[in-house]
Amino acid sequence: MESLGAKALGFVPTMGAFHEGHLSLMREARKNHALVCVSLFVNPLQFGANEDFGRYPRNEDRDFSMAKEAGVDIMFAPSTEQIYPRKTTTIHVAGLSELWEGKTRPGHFDGVATVVAKLFNIVRPHSAYFGYKDLQQCFTIRRMVEDLNMPVQLHFIETVREPDGLAFSSRNVYLTADQRRAAPMLYKTLVSVAKSIEHREDAPGRLVKGGKSRLEDHGFDVDYLELVSTDDFQRTEVVTHSALIVAARLGTTRLIDNLRL
Ligand code: AMP
Repeated sequence: MESLGAKALGFVPTMGAFHEGHLSLMREARKNHALVCVSLFVNPLQFGANEDFGRYPRNEDRDFSMAKEAGVDIMFAPSTEQIYPRKTTTIHVAGLSELWEGKTRPGHFDGVATVVAKLFNIVRPHSAYFGYKDLQQCFTIRRMVEDLNMPVQLHFIETVREPDGLAFSSRNVYLTADQRRAAPMLYKTLVSVAKSIEHREDAPGRLVKGGKSRLEDHGFDVDYLELVSTDDFQRTEVVTHSALIVAARLGTTRLIDNLRL
């Protein structure tokens, strides 16, 4: 039988600007643990030089009251200087973190892995909660935890969506009204490509290509749309253990989504 101690502390790392996705992680942690800690830290290390670190949405007062409402016991909102008092040692997760999101955003996953490792060492949780919305991030963190024998149990939570299918994201506030109307096409395309793959309408590679053109026709600038193996994130034509992953820009706003098959 599991001892109470092993269930004591659940941890949800975030960058704030809370939405329903963040809240579902907090609520799941609340169900499973005596204590729930949420960190709020916009991690400069995971942003590229030309990315949105400076304008990333920040609203600590609102975040604190939403977290309190969700039953969070401890909010940890350190300053950049507290987390990075000097140029830091970093963690690089070999292999899967170098593909797709890692390739389009060089250094991104090193930044994620480093801050998550630091937060685990500061907070020392028994369990930590991450969203499948950031699928490659989930698998990168799992690989880090396995490779470095970190004593943390990981929980991955399904993506929470708006009624029209758009995944909740802190970056959705950047979308203009027109872009917001176009944005649900991202998930709709994943769903329709997945259906065509499952019905074997054509080779997966060609169906994925078709989905990419459809997104481009709707005004998306597509960084990648791929069918990948969830074992190693390599491109695959095999449906078992696979996922469709997509990253695309509407104007200057970059959206990511995925669908596990
Ligand atoms: P962020 O603040 O964007 O770093 O996200 C903090 C955590 O919330 C990460 O584990 C994300 O994967 C997760 N998350 C973000 N959006 C969603 C969503 N729409 N549904 C579920 N989890 C999400």
